[in-house]
Amino acid sequence: MKFYIETVGCQMNALDSELAAAELMAAGWERLDSRKDADLIIFNTCSVREHAEEKIYSALGRLKHWRTQKPGSLVCVMGCMAQKDKDVVFQRAPYVDVVVGPGKIDQLVALVEAAAATGTPQIAVGVDRFEQKADRQTIKESFRLYDPIRLPQARQRTFQAMVRIMFGCDKLCSYCVVPSVRGPEQSRSPKEILDEVKTLADQGCVEVTLLGQTVNSYRYRENGKTTRLADLLAMIDGVSGIRRVRFVSSYPTDMTDELLQAVRDLPSAMPYLHVPAQHGANSTLKRMRRHYTVEQYRELVDRIYETIPGAAITSDFIVGFSGETEDEFLQTVDLVRYARFKNSFIFKYSVRPGNEASRIYVDDVPEEVKKRRNNELLAVQNEISAELNKSFLGREVEILVEGPSKRESRSVAQEETLYAECEQTETPSEQPTTPEGITSVGELLATAAPNGTVQLTGRTECDRIVVFNGPREMAGTFQRVRVVDTAPFTLFGELL
Ligand code: SF4
Repeated sequence: MKFYIETVGCQMNALDSELAAAELMAAGWERLDSRKDADLIIFNTCSVREHAEEKIYSALGRLKHWRTQKPGSLVCVMGCMAQKDKDVVFQRAPYVDVVVGPGKIDQLVALVEAAAATGTPQIAVGVDRFEQKADRQTIKESFRLYDPIRLPQARQRTFQAMVRIMFGCDKLCSYCVVPSVRGPEQSRSPKEILDEVKTLADQGCVEVTLLGQTVNSYRYRENGKTTRLADLLAMIDGVSGIRRVRFVSSYPTDMTDELLQAVRDLPSAMPYLHVPAQHGANSTLKRMRRHYTVEQYRELVDRIYETIPGAAITSDFIVGFSGETEDEFLQTVDLVRYARFKNSFIFKYSVRPGNEASRIYVDDVPEEVKKRRNNELLAVQNEISAELNKSFLGREVEILVEGPSKRESRSVAQEETLYAECEQTETPSEQPTTPEGITSVGELLATAAPNGTVQLTGRTECDRIVVFNGPREMAGTFQRVRVVDTAPFTLFGELL
């Protein structure tokens, strides 16, 4: 039996897809790179934006014929939308066989087998913390994943891996659905995390990214001792083979001096911090129920740059949130100019039914205003990104080679991952590619690639993408390159 998995959403979803794939592969299923010939099609979904959900429903609609005509075929919806919409999925697409929430992925194989054997739909989701009467422990356990199976072949790149250190979120930002679809905040034990990192290192992994909705809130208490993220970084720094560690996403008020010093001092901790500000006006931050002021955020930015020389900071922003005035928007522009982010992921506000903002605020900023503000903020950010990248011209940097560039690898992509807004957002598809981006200089480099080389990409310590020509086999190795050209989101290099 063969399966295909399509992922939308954040890095947490990408990790869930890897774990689900590993589970199926361990049970004897074969993974395919496309839907063609699949017996089981899985959609790993995102609920952060309405657009992402509607895309899934359209994709499900297109599968109706396939599902009803091909004997033995199965369709599974997993992830945040599965948790949030539960029965709605079956109503809108009655031919779906399995609905599985993000906290129940360990049951995937059993659910798929039960659906295949009985022909009846199967569902497993966590306890709804806002609707069902249950004690906190029961709710927590219903969202706690099993010890993950880390099969290298289930990962996109064997030398890089994500490691979940926390589940859920308790910040309860008014616009967000994550606290309801991923449950209450809970940290995994340091031992469990360390064992997993060691397993990954044994499998040849050299870079790990620690994941949590608010990763720097990590706190695990055992035998009277509290382990925080800074302690965890120090423990992982001692794991032989792991040369780079990143963590996403950070919540501004939980960024302690101790953590910043750990990033500065530990050789494996990379000077890259994703700290979503979301907005630059206190009045909007209050409506968003973010627990800080813009002054506190600016102070944090100062502290990061003072503590970690050369640090790259990135942020998320929502434009057009309920009640956002032009003046409030301009304060966000001011913050972007002040913080000089490496890049920002900017999204137009989208109402999510069921959360606090949808109940108490009106989505009153017209779509065209949201669009304009999005473009204006993006233009300011692009200008800053371009300036920061220009400062790399002529410099030598060490990169971890990730493999062929997007263009080279498009045909061999294992899965189509459409990133959407979320605290762990990494590469949102909606960010327009820079006009002078990879297309111009990159093409030049690609056409000039000598025989036996392809256009490769790698990442610097501060998470900048470098495009250069080199042999395909270089993927997974550390190399030094000299930066010969720059664009707002890309550096172009020559192998040294
Ligand atoms: S936006 Fe982030 S911090 Fe806020 S509730 Fe959602 S996941 Fe938690």
